[in-house]
Amino acid sequence: MEIEQAYILNKLSAPIFGILTEAADALSVEAYVIGGYVRDLILHRSSKDIDVVCVGSGIELAQETMKRLGNKAHFAFFKNYGTAQVTYKDTEIEFVGARKESYTRNSRNPIVENGTLQDDLNRRDFTINAMAICLNKDRFGELIDPFNGLSDLDDCRLKTPLNPDITFSDDPLRMLRAIRFASQLGFFIEAETFEAIERNKQRIEIISKERIVDELNKIMLSPRPSIGFELLEQTGLLKLILPELVALKGIETKEGIGHKDNFSHTLKVLDNLARTTDKLWLRWAAVFHDIGKPRVKRFDTKLGWTFHGHEYKGMKMLKGIFQRMKLPINEKLPYIEKLVSLHMRPIVLADEEVTDSAIRRLLFEAGDTIDDLMLLCEADITSKNPEKVKQFLYNFQLVRSKLKEIEEKDRVRNFQPPIDGLEIMEMFHLPAGKVVGELKSAIKEAILDGKIPNEYEAARAFLLQTAAEKNLSSGDL
Ligand code: ATP
Ligand code: MG
Repeated sequence: MEIEQAYILNKLSAPIFGILTEAADALSVEAYVIGGYVRDLILHRSSKDIDVVCVGSGIELAQETMKRLGNKAHFAFFKNYGTAQVTYKDTEIEFVGARKESYTRNSRNPIVENGTLQDDLNRRDFTINAMAICLNKDRFGELIDPFNGLSDLDDCRLKTPLNPDITFSDDPLRMLRAIRFASQLGFFIEAETFEAIERNKQRIEIISKERIVDELNKIMLSPRPSIGFELLEQTGLLKLILPELVALKGIETKEGIGHKDNFSHTLKVLDNLARTTDKLWLRWAAVFHDIGKPRVKRFDTKLGWTFHGHEYKGMKMLKGIFQRMKLPINEKLPYIEKLVSLHMRPIVLADEEVTDSAIRRLLFEAGDTIDDLMLLCEADITSKNPEKVKQFLYNFQLVRSKLKEIEEKDRVRNFQPPIDGLEIMEMFHLPAGKVVGELKSAIKEAILDGKIPNEYEAARAFLLQTAAEKNLSSGDL
């Protein structure tokens, strides 16, 4: 692939690059934009983070750049790493000296020493990330591409610059980065590189859960997250990271009856949802929605394969998964639990007669997650039978409009009972306890069933009547 020099020069026409040129030339050091920025520039992807490598001190080059940017820029440096960061408007520039790395067996953190530009490119993860563009005036815009990254970009190929076994064993996070780039960019992983991931998969155990989740999140947010999850499965990494998902794979047949492959189904749901929402945690809910299925699977001679209660079983499995993966338990677990446990409800509703009270109950239980739940359920329709899909989507519309109608009429989302426990205690001179709870719940049930409207007077009359049936007297009220 040829890249037009004029194209690169045009891309580097922003004043900031001119300033970098001046700073590097003033210090007489070679300086380059490098890595992801160069890759994204060629791919026409916009990026705000510029990585600059110089053959010399990155910190000095950053300081020299700061002199020219004045007080509008912000400077920070990390002495231990020999890196510096300059923030200017909405751009972040990271400066580092070219380095050579060597690894030990137990850590992904290398021993670092100063090196040449070639040393620096050798340690990079993929050929498409191992390109540099010179910033010095006399060579401005010159592309350095020792591993033919440009043609790999053109062919959508991910490939390590050096021996992939060494690359992945040195820093196993690169295996996830390969899969993440494949998913984000729609690239394929070249055979030798792919096989090296299979061989080195076990090395993932030295990577922190936080970094793993960081990459999974990027896969999750890519246009077709199934690409990443398929690759995770094919390389054997998924089994080590999320074995519960791999357990969804496979089809069993008994008496000539099979069931669908729940792994493919889950990925289909995830891709469907990726088309309708950018919400990261809603996408995670899609990944987990059927996670309980393998544990409740039964074969019944009359019914065939059943997965009764998988939504409840799935919900129960989530806490353990969140703990093990260090996922955000406090902030996100309750939300995902709600979505997983309720994910069958709108479908069941759409399948049967849509009654007001069923809708009211769903609204009450889902609260503010109702809209996300509806998106998840719509994505969950993956039947290959077009008639069935049409029927579902039609009924789903019905559920949606009913939801809207009931919501406007009864306001049961985030339901607060019109009479609270304290008032009940005062009315009947009751101590806090079981009876108060029963009366409260009787009011809630009556409202959800549509026996009484969600209003104070109606609730009070109902309460007095219920209490009378229980032989409670209401004092002077
Ligand atoms: P993105 O910013 O979209 O996550 P990126 O490729 O820019 O992708 P960064 O983490 O910003 O990733 O890293 C910048 C560059 O540093 C990469 O393009 C690559 O050349 C190099 N790099 C980053 N992480 C690694 C790694 N684990 N091993 C080898 N090289 C790496
Ligand atoms: Mg980057």
